[in-house]
Amino acid sequence: ARKFFVGGNWKCNGTIDDVKKLVKTLNEVEVPSEDVVEVVVSPPFVFLPLVKALLRSDFAIAAQNCWVRKGGAFTGEISAEMLVNLGIPWVILGHSERRSLLGESNDFVADKVGYALSQGLKVIACVGETLEQREAGSTMDVVAAQTKAIAEKITYWTNVVLAYEPVWAIGTGKVHIGLRKWLSANVNAEVASSTRIIYGGSVNAANCRELAAQPDIDGFLVGGASLKPEFVEIIKSAT
Ligand code: 13P
Repeated sequence: ARKFFVGGNWKCNGTIDDVKKLVKTLNEVEVPSEDVVEVVVSPPFVFLPLVKALLRSDFAIAAQNCWVRKGGAFTGEISAEMLVNLGIPWVILGHSERRSLLGESNDFVADKVGYALSQGLKVIACVGETLEQREAGSTMDVVAAQTKAIAEKITYWTNVVLAYEPVWAIGTGKVHIGLRKWLSANVNAEVASSTRIIYGGSVNAANCRELAAQPDIDGFLVGGASLKPEFVEIIKSAT
């Protein structure tokens, strides 16, 4: 069975005080047992050591990005090696905001995924189509192409969570089924049945249970609501 996954992507938000408050809230909540849900929060890089020092040990931490290969003369970048050195187990790669705002291509994202995995990081790999692509009817082609580029760089899927994040598709779950079928046809049945495919896009306390009830949605990557106390309700939707 695939363990329910709840990721909180804090994006480019917050101050030291905000982070301390948010971590305090998370540390105090009673959540379903670790057997039922895996909780991973993703602060901005500069807050990683602080969150690592303060956050309860049954919750894990993800960086929001990392450099495509070994570190060196790449001003402004953070390497996978540094994250490993800091004891950060996860990284989000290929988020739609980086694809659209920073021009990260399928191949670039795929190279990042391959390198991060090779360094021992676990990866939340994001796929998703734009509104124009969706309106053109090419959703599954777009996410299959993104997934194919990533799949070519993966040997073992154990450390990969696939996050499908389109804002428009709240509640449909259709692409999740499509992605699982794609994995079955193009990787193998074992990977298709064991890989967690999570959903992101306006997940909140009000809609999380209905989404979580869909058999092919194995959890969430939450943006806005991960900064609020309602994130606790989203964690609890695992049960
Ligand atoms: P929202 O939950 O704010 O829609 O963000 C989704 C997202 O991009 C999570 O990575």
